[in-house]
Amino acid sequence: MLGYVPDYRNLIGGELVPAPRMMDTVDPATGEAWARIPASGAAEAEAAVEAARRAFPAWAALPALARAHFLRQVSELFGRHAEELARLETRDNGRILRDTLKRDLPGMTFLWQLAAGQCLEAVKGDTVLLGPDALGLTRREPYGVAVCIIPWNSPISTFSAKAAYALAAGNTVIVKPAEQASASVLRLGELLAEVFPPGVLNIVSGLGEEVGDALVRHRGVGKVSLTGSTATGQAITRASADALKPMTFELGGKSPNIVFPDADLDAAAQGVTVNSIYTGNAGQVCVAGSRILVHRSIWDEMLGRIERVCAGLVLGDPQDLGTTMGPIVSAGQYERVTSYLELAEKEGAELLFGGRTGADVVPALPGGYWVAPTLYTTTDNSLRICQEEIFGPVAVAIPFSEDEEALAIANDSPYGLAAGVWTRDLGRAHRFIRDLQSGTVWVNTFRQMPPGLPFGGVKDSGYGHDSVLEYTREKAAIIQI
Ligand code: NAD
Repeated sequence: MLGYVPDYRNLIGGELVPAPRMMDTVDPATGEAWARIPASGAAEAEAAVEAARRAFPAWAALPALARAHFLRQVSELFGRHAEELARLETRDNGRILRDTLKRDLPGMTFLWQLAAGQCLEAVKGDTVLLGPDALGLTRREPYGVAVCIIPWNSPISTFSAKAAYALAAGNTVIVKPAEQASASVLRLGELLAEVFPPGVLNIVSGLGEEVGDALVRHRGVGKVSLTGSTATGQAITRASADALKPMTFELGGKSPNIVFPDADLDAAAQGVTVNSIYTGNAGQVCVAGSRILVHRSIWDEMLGRIERVCAGLVLGDPQDLGTTMGPIVSAGQYERVTSYLELAEKEGAELLFGGRTGADVVPALPGGYWVAPTLYTTTDNSLRICQEEIFGPVAVAIPFSEDEEALAIANDSPYGLAAGVWTRDLGRAHRFIRDLQSGTVWVNTFRQMPPGLPFGGVKDSGYGHDSVLEYTREKAAIIQI
């Protein structure tokens, strides 16, 4: 225990400022409030936009390599503060320390270096010879103020994937972290206040429908990037209709993980279970392959293997490096996930294992938001538990006989974020890569998102992807010689 309740502050115009209203943030492993964060509203949104607009001309005018110098400083800062930030994020959202410390933070050091290297990409244009006496050229320009709205499941990673590229491209930035888990990003603000000139990077926490809404409506904002739910993407589209601005939407998913009999079943069982049911974040991962499609000839064997992997999971204190699955992030999300357990029963899906919730799952931490790894089976992909994103450690397995049938079930979804195919047949792998309606297809692996490859969705999973060029627009010039 800290013995006191820390108050985190917004970063606006280089100053760390509290908001007139503050709200509690809760440790999901205990259910207890442990810190307070600003509950910002329209006034804080206005101040942040004003600060970012003031800072924009000088930041955009910097040579690309001068901007890169700032980004490299952030990379070094991540190295120095890795353990502090990892523990803070784990406390705030329940993502296990194994993932925040060993996977996320080292990745951030690399990502900011990579973004520093890409500052030059943002200032490259093309020349086009239009004839002997005419020349066309393009130049890339930043949008101005970029608003980056992030979810709670991986705040530092999502913050970095947006802010690093937006800054590299010459935009000034306002980050709006999620109300359920803002502490790690607000702490980053304290550290980054020392790095960037005032107003280049601003962070305001608060409710989506309050400060988030005020930011996306603002005429002074040139670009919005959201990682969040499809419903929020739709709300933002409606709210910004009167002050049009380009959007990047990385939204929800209900990704299929398809297992064929010719796959390496050991690897498939491990990969499917990790990435469909629990991951590091109790299944609260946008790319969770939560529809597991299994060929009928290996149905019993595969489901048995998945159950055995789940039986070996260690649920408990996410700060403990031995823990392999933590809690659900908040009381609200816990209610949502448990409501799907009730729905599954009503819809007639068969419970293969799991289904337990609350103190029964982790008696040592009875106030935490616990849901046991859970697998249902059904033959009906139209059930709501097959069509809707649950965002918890709850998956559904569906049998298939033919490749075409697997493809039809996989594509029968409003979402199209990612898909996994487990097979040794190269031809089949390529056919599925071609025909699956999703932003990413993994073959004999899952959840790898290496920088350098685009990551985004199709259909209700959104459009665009965070990259340095996504935060620039192109201008054309034609010169008559
Ligand atoms: P959410 O959509 O409820 O919230 C995301 C962010 O949007 C938060 O900061 C929230 O405050 C803000 N917000 C909410 N309503 C808003 C509004 N009207 N105007 C402006 N901002 C608003 O999502 P969540 O519950 O925090 O996160 C879970 C969702 O995020 C899931 O659907 C998950 O799949 C998705 N997600 C997607 C990716 C991806 O890369 N595709 C990654 C992680 C999470």
